[in-house]
Amino acid sequence: MFLQKTLKNKAVIKGVGLHKGIENTLSFCPAPANAGIHLVRTDLEGCPSVPVHVDHVKATSLATTLGTDRFVVSTVEHCLSTLAAFRIDNVYLELRGSEIPIGDGSAKVFMDEIRKAGTIEQSEPRKYLYITKPIYCGTEEKHAYVVPYNGLRVSCTIDFDHKMIGQQFVDVDINEQTFASELAGARTFGFVKDIETMREMGLAMGASLDNAIAISDDKIMNPGGLRFENEFVRHKAMDALGDLMTLGRPLMGHVVLFKAGHDLLNQLVQKILDSPECHQELELGAGLPVFENFDVPFSGRA
Ligand SMILES: [Zn+2]
Repeated sequence: MFLQKTLKNKAVIKGVGLHKGIENTLSFCPAPANAGIHLVRTDLEGCPSVPVHVDHVKATSLATTLGTDRFVVSTVEHCLSTLAAFRIDNVYLELRGSEIPIGDGSAKVFMDEIRKAGTIEQSEPRKYLYITKPIYCGTEEKHAYVVPYNGLRVSCTIDFDHKMIGQQFVDVDINEQTFASELAGARTFGFVKDIETMREMGLAMGASLDNAIAISDDKIMNPGGLRFENEFVRHKAMDALGDLMTLGRPLMGHVVLFKAGHDLLNQLVQKILDSPECHQELELGAGLPVFENFDVPFSGRA
């Protein structure tokens, strides 16, 4: 049986948010078994909190925002993707401010601090959301789906009509090691031509070459270049893992994404939860359940 996990010690991260550009402090705090993952605004009176769940997703354009009528927390996906990869079940994410710090634009800062803090098993078994039948969302043009898989796997394709990006593909069987080597270091990115418009809208106020890849018509503006040849699609796969945390349960399944952003991921999560005939809540132990093979209707590689 796999037991639930929380952090052994508190982990603290300080830094600016990508869009608002305001310095915030985020603390990952240990939480009891069965507590789940909650965002807590410790800068507001009464420290209001919200569970990480699709019911509380407030916005999915550019970044994922969670909240209530009273408050929001934005750009949650990089921090949540680390919790997904490390299979952390219970944690209070205490934030002084409304946006999670961006770090270097990747999930690295969260991973490094969680590793330093350490994780600890708790007394209760983990209950997985185990996909038993395929669930599809979107069109042939742009889609997201999940099929049965004895593990957590993400296959992601992006296709940008831009010569510095083009079509890229990544396929990762997720665990702490593969997350660290394949996805955690991949940074967010933006186009130089868009920055002025975004700033007029009050977005990307904290963006710099230290926390995002800036792409001009024909080159990468960051002095060090890219960390991976296909850094862009790796970043999208990392984002997706974070968005999948809004299922509110650790996922067992193979997620395939083709040109899918936060909006489509959000629809997929909703559809999974609305399709009880396609998944089971399971504690996993000695034997994994075996499901029939299935045909993948859209290729992960176009
Ligand atoms: Zn991202």
